[in-house]
Parts: sequence; C-alpha cells; structure tokens
Amino acid sequence: MKMFVPILALICLLQSGIAIADQKPVDAQARQSNYHAAETYYAHLISGTISEGAELNLLMTMLPKGGDLHNHYSGAQYSETYIDWLGKLKYCIYSENDASLQAEKYRIETRTDIPEAARKICRTADAVRNDTAFYREVLKRWSNKDYANHYHTQPAPDLQFFDTFGYFWAASNYSYTEGLKILKERAKAENLQYLEMMFKGAPDVDNPALARQINSLPPNAAVADVNQAFSAYADFMASDPQALKKIADHVSYLETVIAGVDDSDFKIRLQSYVSRNNQPAQIFSGLYSAFAAATKSSLIVGVNFVGPENGYVAMRDYKLHMQMFQFLRQRFPGTRLALHAGELALGMVPPEGLRFHIHDAVEIAGAKRIGHGVDISHESNALELLASMRAKQVAVEVNLTSNEFILGVKNEAHPVNLYRRHGVPFVISTDDPGVSRNNLSGEYLLFVSRYKPSYRELKEVVFNSIRYSFLSDRDKEAELASLDKRFEKFEAAVAKLTKQ
Ligand SMILES: [Zn+2]
Repeated sequence: MKMFVPILALICLLQSGIAIADQKPVDAQARQSNYHAAETYYAHLISGTISEGAELNLLMTMLPKGGDLHNHYSGAQYSETYIDWLGKLKYCIYSENDASLQAEKYRIETRTDIPEAARKICRTADAVRNDTAFYREVLKRWSNKDYANHYHTQPAPDLQFFDTFGYFWAASNYSYTEGLKILKERAKAENLQYLEMMFKGAPDVDNPALARQINSLPPNAAVADVNQAFSAYADFMASDPQALKKIADHVSYLETVIAGVDDSDFKIRLQSYVSRNNQPAQIFSGLYSAFAAATKSSLIVGVNFVGPENGYVAMRDYKLHMQMFQFLRQRFPGTRLALHAGELALGMVPPEGLRFHIHDAVEIAGAKRIGHGVDISHESNALELLASMRAKQVAVEVNLTSNEFILGVKNEAHPVNLYRRHGVPFVISTDDPGVSRNNLSGEYLLFVSRYKPSYRELKEVVFNSIRYSFLSDRDKEAELASLDKRFEKFEAAVAKLTKQ
C-alpha cells in the first residue's frame, strides 16, 4: 500500500464530499478492508512529522464528526459576519473614545440620532472595511484573532474572550435565520450532521419579596430553608401570568427560530441556559424558565449554565447554584443538564475553588454532561469522581482551543488523557468557534495530533457525539445509523486514495 498520497490527489478525490457521496454501499468484507486501510493511513499520519500536518488536517476535515454538543450561537459567528450585519442594521462602530459623547472605541452604536461630533468618529461597516488597519483592529478586539502571534497591549486572555461578546452583541440579533443558515452550511461542509446549541438565555421574572428570601440565604444554609425559599419562588413562577407568558414566548421563539433548519442530512436542537453571575433569585427564576421550556418543547433538549466560572458571584454562590439544579430536577423530572463546570485553572482562583465544582455538578446538580471539566485533577476526591463519572456515563465536552486560550491549559497539562485513562466518556466540541476562529475539524486536528488516539478510539469519540447527545432515543438511533453510513463512505474513499 502506498502511504504517501499527494495532497492534490486527495483534494481531487474528496472535493466537496462529492466523490464520497457518489460511492455505492460496499459488502462486509470490503468494508472491513476499507476500515483497515483508513486505520493504517491515519496511523501513518499521526506518527509522522510536521510534513504530514496538512494531510492530517485534510483527513480531519473529511472525517465524519457526528455532532458538536458544546457551542454557543453568538460565539460561533465570525466577526466578519457581525460587521456585515451591523452594516445592514445601519449601525456604526466608534473609532475613538470620547466620554462626553458616550463613545467607546470598537463598540457598536445602535442609536441613529447621535450628535454630529459622535457621527464623525463612528464608522459605517463599509468605512471599517475600507480601512485595513482599523478593520484588523476590530477583528482583533471582537475575537481572539492575532492574540498570540504578536505583542500588543492586551487584556488578560479570559477577559479578552468574554469581552468580545459585549462588542458584537448589538449586531448578533440581526437575523437568526441567516445566522443559523451560515452555521448549518459551515457544519455540513465539514461533515457534521448535528448541532446542539446554546442559543438564547431563559427569561426571569422578579418577585421582590420572594427574591429576598433566596438572596438572603446564608452560606451553608440548612437544606430545609433553602428548599423552602426555592419552593416559594417556583410556586410563584408556576402560577404568575407574566412568568407563564414569558416562558411560553421563550419556547415559541426558539421553536420558530429553528423551524425548517433540519433536513435529511442535518439536525439542530437547542439548550436553554442562564448566566451564572447574577443575584441568586434572578438565577433561580431564569433556571425555572429554562427547565419549564425544556419540558414543554422536544426541540429544547437540555439546560445549561454559562458565563465566567471564576467570576466573584459564580464562585461565591456555586454550591447554591447546584442546589437550584437539584431542586428543579425534582420539579421537572427527566430534564437533562449539560453544565459548564471546572472551566478553571490553578492561579485563576484560590486552590479551594478548584476542589468541588465538577463533583457538585455531577453529584448534586445531576449533570449528564460536563462542559470543559479542566480542573478535575485538583478535585478533592478526583479518583472517586472519575470512577463515578465513568459509572454514570457522564460525558465531558472537551474544548481544546478554548481551554488553551482562556485557561492557558494545553498539551500534556490538559486532562483529556486523565479522562481517557479512567474510561470517562468525552466528546470533542468547539465552544465558540467564531471568537476562537477555529472549527470542529481544527479541534479534531488538535486532539489527534496532540494525543494520538488510535483510529478505533477516534471513531468512538465521534460516535460519542451522538451517543451522549440529548436527542430523543429515536432520533439518536437514526443519527447513529447515518453516522455509520458516513464512515462507510469515508473509509471507502480513504482506501481508494491509498491505492493510488
Ligand atoms: Zn461554553
């Protein structure tokens, strides 16, 4: 078997997946032989030198990747798209700071009736694109672009990352239909069949008297007191007309947004979510809505919890938050949780803050999947926790680029090998590919080039992305069958090129 296949031959054979799609089904023996050919070729590429990097990249682009289970809609769009959209919305971007005009450099101005002096320093989308230097500056500020490859005055990476959302949010709601179409086409182009997306936060409704009960709970409050305060607020949310309307609107909005996106080769499902850095009662109210929404709609398949985990409030109230999930799971049995937990590294917070987050997300909140799980080796009873995650089949969503940028954790420092060694299932996902300026193929490239899993394991990880999704059993079965077919075609194509 020839192992060194010219890149050009690969590209010609596999361009746009047409050659793959046109191939006929193969019999069992041929399939086995194709599997071995793909396995051997892949093993050669990951054992190779840097000269095979592009071939490996191409193979990861072709690879069927099942689903991306951890991605945020607004962080998935590239800044170039947001600049297009702010142009359509007739907004502008400030190119200077001026407190008297409420102008902040790189921020979007959404008002149309601004003073002439403000107008002079606020650039239209076209003006931004026509000024190469400023255009580059905006891309750098609105995403992680160029952060690592040259020096400039820069904020800490976690701040840089989370600040980007504040810059582009005003353009992000231009057209969800168009935005989802972009993400769908991008996903299909890299052989993905499923996106499970965090799209929009769940609404909250204030009840000052009941909020006081939750907000004044002391640290380590008795469980009975905590549950009494939660119960009162939950009863209010269940009967208040405004709350019921907001929840119904949230559900119908999400269902409308993704209506018609599914086709025979692609599915999208949503998670409702709440941000973790607000006051406890507001978070509880939002979580109630998120759980209620997930119960009401088969298209909202889970609940998540987002925002910087090292934020003051997020750290202070972590245990209380996990108790909220525990309580609401009893109110809404069967709701599935994928929680960001352990997105922390030594030095970001005092060491005590690294010891229990994943544990509590799994054992108290009852999460079925953990987003990131990076600080696992600092957990108080890490070995017991790993065994429990394995026994309960709690999957970890591994986001390599995001973890490298925000936490500075990469290569051997990343716990992916620890999870592998302890048999904890995991998936490869993107988190915020627009901000990170990456895609899922790029994440797989990092995974295989850094950790060199066997071809068998690589396939297992891909299949995990459907197996541990929150799709219904019926949909899951269909998507697993579809994924198997995709691999059949992929392996036949790889076998063919290795014989050339
Ligand atoms: Zn995330």
